[in-house]
Amino acid sequence: MRTLETLSGGKWLTTGDWIDVHDPADPGTAVARVPAMSAADVTRAYDHAEQGFAVWRRTSPFERSRIMTEAARLLRERVAEIAEDVTREMGKTRAEAAGETIKAADFLEYYAGVARQGYGALVHDVRPDTRTSYQREPLGVVLAITPWNDPLITPARKLAPCLAAGNAAVLKPATDTPQAALHLARALDDAGLPAGVLNVVTGRGAQISEALVSDPRIAALTFTGSNEVGESLRARVAARNVRFQGELGGKNATVVLADADLPAAAKAVAAAAFAQAGQRCTATSRVIVERPVYEEFTALLLTEAAALRLGSGLAAGTTMGPLVSARQRDSVLADIERAVAQGASVLTGGGRPAGEELSHGCYVSPTVLGAVTRDMDIWHQEVFGPVVALLPVDSFEQAVTAVNDSAFGLAAAVFTRSLSAAHRFADEAECGQIAVNTTTSGWDVHQPFGGFRDSGSPFKEQGEEALRFYTRVKTVAVHFGA
Ligand code: NAD
Repeated sequence: MRTLETLSGGKWLTTGDWIDVHDPADPGTAVARVPAMSAADVTRAYDHAEQGFAVWRRTSPFERSRIMTEAARLLRERVAEIAEDVTREMGKTRAEAAGETIKAADFLEYYAGVARQGYGALVHDVRPDTRTSYQREPLGVVLAITPWNDPLITPARKLAPCLAAGNAAVLKPATDTPQAALHLARALDDAGLPAGVLNVVTGRGAQISEALVSDPRIAALTFTGSNEVGESLRARVAARNVRFQGELGGKNATVVLADADLPAAAKAVAAAAFAQAGQRCTATSRVIVERPVYEEFTALLLTEAAALRLGSGLAAGTTMGPLVSARQRDSVLADIERAVAQGASVLTGGGRPAGEELSHGCYVSPTVLGAVTRDMDIWHQEVFGPVVALLPVDSFEQAVTAVNDSAFGLAAAVFTRSLSAAHRFADEAECGQIAVNTTTSGWDVHQPFGGFRDSGSPFKEQGEEALRFYTRVKTVAVHFGA
């Protein structure tokens, strides 16, 4: 078992207390341990962040850009080692973990370029001989709290724009998957990030939550995770006027219209529903199919599900790994059981896979549910596992109504050959991300990303839009007359 240190104030720290990290393919074995920081350690991380911000805000954008570019290069150079650690702590396949590492490098590179641009504009001034402009400047210390499903990309998605804009950060990765964030911190530290600009807090929620969230030096809180935790954090910081960005749950729908390319739709739904064992905020979990093609589409989807090979993410040939933990597996199994109790039928999967090799891991078979109705919990509640619910409908209008029958509004897709249906869908689906003839997941680093309704908050991530969250606007009038 490896012992890892965490980064605070430019130093790699250990503590006397540890948190074990487990491999979900073999949860009996701890693969690593990380420091369980105390509340006092967390407060010290904010001291360091405050000092780091004083340096970083005055570091030239070109130097910031250079450091971020170098960190991206280091991530690419270390992709094999990092991907293996991500697989060992989270369970996704080695190929998925390598893709995640490369995308994290993309985030750093993209925002390294953005860092070189000024953010602002000249505006007219009614006063003579007066030139007025506005500029965007950093906020200060940003707290980033991230989940376990994309343990490297999610911190990178937040830290890259945060640092490009000149902020310092305290990053709290998920307790189940801290190694990925520590790799990111290592790359930035090795690239020359000044001390205190990034501080990583590893610890047990109950012991550190108060020190983490109540520190008066937090200027903004960016959170990705569950609605339950996100909404409570939002409420905790609101009274202090701390800016909050939340990327929360989803219940993403894909619509298959009767004129669709059905094999392409089935492949896309299987990819969006079962990649990372369904543990993606943008995973397709509801499929709404026009009745004339319902049987044919269902048969194609079942064929795609049957072709998946479950196993350890490190084993050659595995196309679907385990869920992140026994807790998550049991939660998904309970959701399936409740759906069946409410009248859904299991068309494939529905439980743990058979076989000695898989029996001790955190596996759930890819599951397709039929006979689903819109009053069932499975229609409304996020499962965050490899489970899709099918619903037949009789028209485009019914399909859109079904898509929008959700408290969430993250991503939706439509499969059709009709240009008119595609554009009407993009206008009428109440989601932040709309896909036509492609998957609900897989948005690029420069594309604005974030959900409507209970899936998100007004601030988007990714692209230049992300800078709205990480900067504030200052207006400057200069009178140059005599
Ligand atoms: P979670 O909400 O349980 O935990 C998220 C993070 O919050 C973890 O780091 C956790 O340790 C921390 N946390 C929990 N309680 C805390 C507290 N009281 N104080 C401070 N920190 C606390 O979520 P999860 O189970 O790790 O992730 C799965 C969820 O994340 C799903 O609901 C999924 O939809 C969501 N998610 C959303 C997006 C998106 O972009 N919309 C992306 C990925 C995941």
